[in-house]
Amino acid sequence: MTEALAEVAQWLQDARSVLVLTGAGISAESGIPTFRGKDGWWKNHDPMELASPEGFARNPALVWEWYAYRYHLVEKAQPNPGHHAIAHLEERTPAFLLLTQNVDGLHRRAGSKNVHEIHGSIQRMRCTRTGKIYHPTDVPIEPPFPLKTPDGDLLRPDVVWFGETIRMDAAEAVEDFLATHHPDVCLLIGTSALFAYIQSWSLRAKYAGARLVEINAERSTLSGMADAFIQQQAGTALPQLVEALT
Ligand code: NAD
Repeated sequence: MTEALAEVAQWLQDARSVLVLTGAGISAESGIPTFRGKDGWWKNHDPMELASPEGFARNPALVWEWYAYRYHLVEKAQPNPGHHAIAHLEERTPAFLLLTQNVDGLHRRAGSKNVHEIHGSIQRMRCTRTGKIYHPTDVPIEPPFPLKTPDGDLLRPDVVWFGETIRMDAAEAVEDFLATHHPDVCLLIGTSALFAYIQSWSLRAKYAGARLVEINAERSTLSGMADAFIQQQAGTALPQLVEALT
């Protein structure tokens, strides 16, 4: 184990409160492509066509084909050692909150409990007319696309697209956690941290006394602010950290 990892393990060992913020990088080792990385979706796809209300209005069948492909990829995928390590960390930490930008549900499948999905879930659909939520058990995610409710109303994935508001229940959970539990450590894992709310939560935790620890395969916008920047794959670094805890 590197010296930096050993130091972070000591911080986690002593922490009574931990906030974890994850992005697409935590699921990369489960075979789910990130968005912006070198193998990311946006290398070959236009985000505005596939992940915006305007793109959906123009071509709902195309958007559904892409989501169906990703839904089935996620269904076949398994949580990786990084997801499992985060679930173990939750078990041993008195106050713990995990905020993920991912829509894949892999944290829950790994056993994480206090998880908040700020960008929604690929496992849910929403009626564009009534707002009612549907699951793949109600409407299978299979052609023909676009998917519709049994009444014939257009369904959309229950995820947050570009230009849309984040999930307020998840945002409020983080705000409450910061105000009530004053994290000792904030772990930022596998995210390019381009969204203002991710930057804001990380820095507010830090300036209120948390050690800001980043685990990322590459540098992000926040690496320079981190108290420890671990440039490793999450699935390698996180299990080592958790194994070092007594
Ligand atoms: P992003 O694609 O912008 O950034 C991914 C980050 O992960 C990069 O900084 C990259 O260096 C890092 N990374 C890649 N592999 C890694 C690994 N093995 N270990 C550690 N770090 C690794 O993704 P983002 O920051 O999450 O933000 C964009 C959006 O992506 C989010 O809104 C999210 O909804 C969406 N998204 C979700 C999924 C998913 O649910 N699995 C997949 C792709 C994108």
